Amino acid sequence: MKVLVIGPGGREHAIVRSLLADPNVSEVHAAPGNAGISKLVPTHNIDGNDPDAVAALATKLGVDLVVVGPEAPLAAGVSDAVRDAGIPVFGPSKAAAQLEASKAFAKEVMAEAGVPTAMAMVATNAEEAAAALDTFGAPYVVKDDGLAAGKGVVVTNNRDEALAHAQTCFDAGGTVVIEEFLDGPEVSVFVLCDGRNTVALSPAQDFKRIFDNDEGPNTGGMGAYTPLEWAPAGLVQEVIDRVAQPTVNEMANRGTPFVGVLFVGLALTTRGTRVIEFNVRFGDPETQAVLARLKTPLGALLLAAAKGELDKADELRWSKETAVAVVVASENYPDTPRTGDRIRGLKKVDELDGVHVIHAGTALDEDGKVISAGGRVLAVVALGSDLVEARERAYDGVELVQLEGSQFRTDIGRKAARGEIKVASNATGA
Ligand code: AMP
Repeated sequence: MKVLVIGPGGREHAIVRSLLADPNVSEVHAAPGNAGISKLVPTHNIDGNDPDAVAALATKLGVDLVVVGPEAPLAAGVSDAVRDAGIPVFGPSKAAAQLEASKAFAKEVMAEAGVPTAMAMVATNAEEAAAALDTFGAPYVVKDDGLAAGKGVVVTNNRDEALAHAQTCFDAGGTVVIEEFLDGPEVSVFVLCDGRNTVALSPAQDFKRIFDNDEGPNTGGMGAYTPLEWAPAGLVQEVIDRVAQPTVNEMANRGTPFVGVLFVGLALTTRGTRVIEFNVRFGDPETQAVLARLKTPLGALLLAAAKGELDKADELRWSKETAVAVVVASENYPDTPRTGDRIRGLKKVDELDGVHVIHAGTALDEDGKVISAGGRVLAVVALGSDLVEARERAYDGVELVQLEGSQFRTDIGRKAARGEIKVASNATGA
């Protein structure tokens, strides 16, 4: 089969890499891709957010499957255009992508489907925001209703800061969702959906804040590891039974079936498992770690989902190893990332045992040299016999990456490796 992957980031590089390892896949194309992707497969310089352009390219290439990586093309209706062109597509319709594009919509669907989540109020002006903040009390959680690349959420004990973030969203013409604070460790579960059936991948944990010990502003994600030795045994089944299947059923009942990845962000709180958020695509950088362990051929799996045939797909098989992804970001990320700098040492990283580089914000300069072209530049991904070994290998790789001013977190997976993550005994089943 021939596959076209849409997107420019690390997630798409990881997807392309896994597709190339699938014996069912004969050819992979990407649009627009990045420097790492262009070394593996032909890339096409089109606007990946333009539904007509993507459908035209998929038709011209004669692909059997289109995989849409990021949220923006999904929210723009790229999947609808490809589906209308008669080509199977892994990624939800514009209507179903509202589960991520509007947090208020997601809350409404969760309420209808009986999915456990944080109590929340929608505010459209400063007065409503103040009232909602005082209803829930500190710590305050204020979320931009729309897409914000993982950076629209402020969690703070400072009421003025919470109000200021709400005001910034109102000034931009938006609304906010204000919710109760959820304590406890966070987990990401990717659930493949075909409109009716659901298959969960192995849970991962990501690291949203820019600095060690979860300090500083939120980012798109600075690292991830999987599997989670400390997670309760019944967690994945609980996510299917109480979150993913009810949501997929609700979306089907609404006439907007969900096909693609339902990314369930969870908090394992003292009062039980609660959904923090839904996304409608693979997470970045969790995908870099999760796919490094997946042994089931990815192309066949995504095609089965796109065709509504997940119930006939192969059982998932996983490597016994642990995977860690550490993101190397450019100077000043997440504010105004510095770009255009040469990146050296990548070959040496790929030569390490069990380690590979996944490109994100990279490009090739006129001489064909790899340069930085975004905030999150790349991830070093390592497999190891356990989390301790995988971390060691990943950080050995990170040390070899030379990029002026670059930053990375030194504590990806550290707490778990030290056995310091505590899950409340009643975290599941409540
Ligand atoms: P979201 O974009 O909704 O995933 O939020 C980004 C991050 O903000 C999450 O990964 C959490 O770390 C944090 N967050 C979001 N909602 C809450 C909440 N209700 N309680 C505590 N932390 C939250």
